[in-house]
Amino acid sequence: MIPYGRQNISDDDIEAVTAVLKSDFLTQGQAVPAFEQAVASKTGAGFALATNSATSALHIACLALGLQSGDLLWTTPITFVASANCARYCGADVDFVDIDPATGNMSPAALKEKFITAEKNGRLPKVIVPVHLCGQSCDMAAISALARHYGCHIIEDASHAIGGQYQNEPVGCGRFSDITVFSFHPVKIITTGEGGMALTNSAELAHKMALYRSHGISRDEVDMTEASHGPWYYQQTLLGFNYRMTDIQAALGLSQLTRLDSFVLQRRELAAFYDTLLADVDVTPLTQLPDSGSAWHLYVVQIDNVQGTAAANRKEVFNYMREQGVGVNVHYIPVHLQPYYRNLGFSAGDYPAAEDYYRKALTIPLYPDLTTEQQRYISATLIAALAGRSGVEPG
Ligand SMILES: *Cc1c(COP(=O)(O)O)cnc(C)c1O
Repeated sequence: MIPYGRQNISDDDIEAVTAVLKSDFLTQGQAVPAFEQAVASKTGAGFALATNSATSALHIACLALGLQSGDLLWTTPITFVASANCARYCGADVDFVDIDPATGNMSPAALKEKFITAEKNGRLPKVIVPVHLCGQSCDMAAISALARHYGCHIIEDASHAIGGQYQNEPVGCGRFSDITVFSFHPVKIITTGEGGMALTNSAELAHKMALYRSHGISRDEVDMTEASHGPWYYQQTLLGFNYRMTDIQAALGLSQLTRLDSFVLQRRELAAFYDTLLADVDVTPLTQLPDSGSAWHLYVVQIDNVQGTAAANRKEVFNYMREQGVGVNVHYIPVHLQPYYRNLGFSAGDYPAAEDYYRKALTIPLYPDLTTEQQRYISATLIAALAGRSGVEPG
């Protein structure tokens, strides 16, 4: 089976990890700050905090922004559940903003409408979490203008988008948000096995996130509310977690980071080749906006309504391609349709554009080591699957 995504591990990566394993510090050594420094300078962010996942980075980002019970966080339904769950960890409520069907990203028009209604109803969100779907940045200029107007914070969930650009600046630079989060899960652009990072230009937010990342404990005199007992003293001032990244992971990340630009370049070339291969095929790729340079985490095609319902088409195409050894996937099941969120009061029909996208979306394999031959095979298999739907025998 050709997977939909997978890591690229070099001999240098293995050597970097081995070096840490042979060193004195498997965690809380020098590799984590080195990785943080490297990502900060790569993106232009002032501060970077490595975590054991993007999910925990989202959690400490929400905590640092003061999200708590009684507060509200808005995100998009077309994302991984973690973008919404971070609010629930803090006891806050979640609501969703429908997508722009062209890009699959949070729609600034829907956001504007939702803000107007929310203001009338007297319940504005404290935080919004736009997600850069498939690696393409959201329209952050529009989203941040609205957020500023209504006095709410922004966490960019850039789990798909390290190495991408928006308006010619790296995603993560923080021009349009308070905090940006990256994921280093193996299917993402670079990997640390499990891992994530929170970036910010605010020293205060960075400081708070550092506390939440590590038990709420500080050894720094300036943080202490009581006099130190001596050189061994540390003080816990709030309830934090152990969300630290290990040095083993950070060494892998640091080594991977040296290939970030080439990974993104390869992904862009592979995506462009799919565009060519599928140009005359009855599927719609997501629209790429001119001010965005996608990191191309995922290549999603939308299976249009050839015959019967779009959902039936997509399922048949999915099953056929899996049978032919192509590891297609679906990104994403709208979060509000998950049983957990339905139990909180959401239901089908709440976000029509997201639900329509979900009926059509199919992710085909995309990762740096994918070969031209594999791409031709994947495209031919997709074409055969679609032909099967319109009554022609799949070849
Ligand atoms: C992968 C992903 C996450 C979670 O990342 P982890 O590092 O696995 O915790 C969050 N949001 C989005 C959009 C993702 O794709």
